Amino acid sequence: MTPSGPVSPSGPLTPGDPLVEPPLPGGPLDQPGVIQLYRRAGALRTGHFVLSSGRHSDTYLQSALVLQWPRVAEALGRALAEPFQGLVDAVVGPALGGVVIGHETARALHARMVFTERVRGAAALRRSFQVAPGERVLVTEDVVTTGGSALEVCDLLEAAGAEVVALATIIDRLPGSVQLPVPFTALARVAAGAWEAAECPSCLAGSTAESPGSRRLDGHGQ
Ligand code: ZN
Repeated sequence: MTPSGPVSPSGPLTPGDPLVEPPLPGGPLDQPGVIQLYRRAGALRTGHFVLSSGRHSDTYLQSALVLQWPRVAEALGRALAEPFQGLVDAVVGPALGGVVIGHETARALHARMVFTERVRGAAALRRSFQVAPGERVLVTEDVVTTGGSALEVCDLLEAAGAEVVALATIIDRLPGSVQLPVPFTALARVAAGAWEAAECPSCLAGSTAESPGSRRLDGHGQ
């Protein structure tokens, strides 16, 4: 059964509209398949943007726009889980980015899923969540940009005696030179430039940045 889906306020059901469920690619969820999916969900755009950090970028990436569609999230979780079938007891994702994809990955692995939260700036397991010594754990993220917060979660789990099998992310956005100290896998890689506003080449060329994650309508958000 094909659901009719919501009607787009912008008229035709065009690719890149975040109110329209993106079709799953016919082939595997590999680099081209995932990039196509993100573009059609409006979750990956090229242009001139202000990020939430205040830095400017030529790329807007917002996995929540892809993961808002449960069937799409389920398919991404299945793809992320595939290499780890039978190798994982639990999936751990940092909130918020690692939660939805972690839950879908755990579904595909028939594993349980818990998430970490920040307590006074540090990653922690709350809500009586636990990992057991020797438990084989897969850490999930939607996007790994620096690896810092995901690696902090890996350290936390190892300190609890768990065995971190790998860090698995939908999108790898790491600088090319970075090597992570844990096994690392990604469905797709997105290279994106980011600059301080004063050094942004698009601003220097006279363009005005868009704030796609903001409700503010003043165009710049800062
Ligand atoms: Zn700029």
